[in-house]
Amino acid sequence: MSSYWVKTPEWFKCLFPDGMKWDVPHNGGDTVYLTFDDGPHPVVTPWVIEQLAAYNAKATFFCVGNNVARYPAVYDQLLDGGHRVGNHTYNHLNGWRTDSGHYLRNISQAARHIDSRLFRPPYGRIRMSQFRKLMKQHDDWAVYMWDILSGDFDTTVTPEQCAGNVIAHIHPGSVVVFHDSEKAWERMHIALPQVLAYCAARNWRMEVLP
Ligand SMILES: [Zn+2]
Repeated sequence: MSSYWVKTPEWFKCLFPDGMKWDVPHNGGDTVYLTFDDGPHPVVTPWVIEQLAAYNAKATFFCVGNNVARYPAVYDQLLDGGHRVGNHTYNHLNGWRTDSGHYLRNISQAARHIDSRLFRPPYGRIRMSQFRKLMKQHDDWAVYMWDILSGDFDTTVTPEQCAGNVIAHIHPGSVVVFHDSEKAWERMHIALPQVLAYCAARNWRMEVLP
């Protein structure tokens, strides 16, 4: 039994304030939203960009500030490709285990490298007090959680299970999480092409988060 939900339950989404988003209202549309956390990575991220380009797909990349500082050219490649970037803190901090002042400063530090009004807390772990402080500092920001976790970070699942996790649950409006990281590579590089093919076969558009 894994310690996370592949599909975020509706009742759970309801426990959180309005500024925290779990999916995108689709109003009968045909768009899905792929997201990639923890990059940019000098090898994995350009590979993802290539896969997306083959399907004319755009995605949102929640970048770790420290990685952007190390690989600015890869970050630029994301923007040049028409993708969207988001803030994922500077050091991939776990909000539950981090003092709020430190947490907020780490987000500001990342914001000096990442030009974005989107934020996703690493591990999905942000305390309500931290969330409120963040919204107070940046009332035009959106905090994006997710609808579906591929599980590509989970070393106990196979790449096929990982693709299956997404394919079993994805529908228009879904926000799906992958990772452009070394840790996820073994599963992600097999699961992502399957998911792209699945979405393309349904004529779903893959776009950046609004
Ligand atoms: Zn992360």
